[in-house]
Amino acid sequence: MSSLVFTVGAATDVGQLREVNQDSFLATDGLAVVADGMGGHRGGEVASAIAVTSLRASFSESTLDSLTDGVARANGEIRAQAAHDPSLHGMGTTLCALAIIDHPDAEKLAIVNVGDSRAYVFVDGEMTQVTEDHSLVEALVREGRLTPEEAETHPQRNILTRALGVADSVEVDQFVIDPMPEARFLLCSDGLFNEVGHDEIARVLGETSDPNVAAQILVDAANRGGGRDNITAVIVDARRNGNGERVVSTAQSREAATDEVPVVDAHATNSGEPNWAEAGTGGPTDGGSGDSGSNESGSDRRRWWRFNS
Ligand code: MN
Repeated sequence: MSSLVFTVGAATDVGQLREVNQDSFLATDGLAVVADGMGGHRGGEVASAIAVTSLRASFSESTLDSLTDGVARANGEIRAQAAHDPSLHGMGTTLCALAIIDHPDAEKLAIVNVGDSRAYVFVDGEMTQVTEDHSLVEALVREGRLTPEEAETHPQRNILTRALGVADSVEVDQFVIDPMPEARFLLCSDGLFNEVGHDEIARVLGETSDPNVAAQILVDAANRGGGRDNITAVIVDARRNGNGERVVSTAQSREAATDEVPVVDAHATNSGEPNWAEAGTGGPTDGGSGDSGSNESGSDRRRWWRFNS
């Protein structure tokens, strides 16, 4: 039986305009997470930090169910803390995670996603977006009312249709991947892909082997592109280890760094745009009701994305 091993790297930065970094991330062997928080005062950074910490704590069984339940638990914890502390009312966060899950034959990879952070896979020089953004503009693109090009610069592209913290239940997209012997994954917040084009991101992933170095190059590129939002990039090189031995990841220290430097995001402090408020969660500054957010529940969309299976 072969086992999968992660070698991870990560970088995050507040960007050029924001005062606080509300992104949080985790980069360990077996679990990688990016969360992009939003909410007034310190709400955004708290929400994304809770998401990462809670998911890490509850993902104990290396199964897709455990991972998905962890997202639901994180949602509940964010809701509970927001209810407990008025200054955190209306806080929310995206969450995108990649994990190794057990399988009788060979371990597989699972990705879960809520919101507009993204997971990409890079194989053989081609980068493909795995996740689908839960944002208003992406919904409009799917309906044919916006072109992808129009979506890239749309003033309301920060409006989310799904996030943690919005409602008591959360719909989670799931992807199960049977990976090639070697595959590279990128988890990132929108502060990266809104500033750096697809081809440029792919070029960096293909040219820079060290995942920490590559992550920093991407963050630097986003800052050069404007840095209008917090920027987080987590890179995971997933490798099959044929003899079943587990190899210790080279980047375990990133866990500690994550604990010290939690989250952020830019949606919150961008007071000129009707972003989060319109997602129905209580705006970043209005302290309004966080209970009015519709989660657009409906079809229980469990999506399975197979790679080279
Ligand atoms: Mn963001």
